[in-house]
Amino acid sequence: MSFLLACPHCGARPVGEFAFRGEQTPDLDDGMAHRALHRAIHLRRNVAGVQREWWQHRAGCGRWFVADRDTRTNEVHRTGLVGELGPRDAA
Ligand SMILES: [Zn+2]
Repeated sequence: MSFLLACPHCGARPVGEFAFRGEQTPDLDDGMAHRALHRAIHLRRNVAGVQREWWQHRAGCGRWFVADRDTRTNEVHRTGLVGELGPRDAA
């Protein structure tokens, strides 16, 4: 399935120019308990709906960014650099 994805630097481009780099996971910190650290590193939510994902504009500027994409329809709600989109739960 083909769709457009908006690189925050280059604008809308065909999705074939990008590399999907996986679901964004919780930020790690030094004080995390073992169980929370395990969840953050190894487990994915794999939602049927909107999830926050890592993408890289591989055939363009090479930058990494995040996108809120509906996994059921491939509709991309928004893209932005890390920290621009607000909390993941708002996706
Ligand atoms: Zn780009």
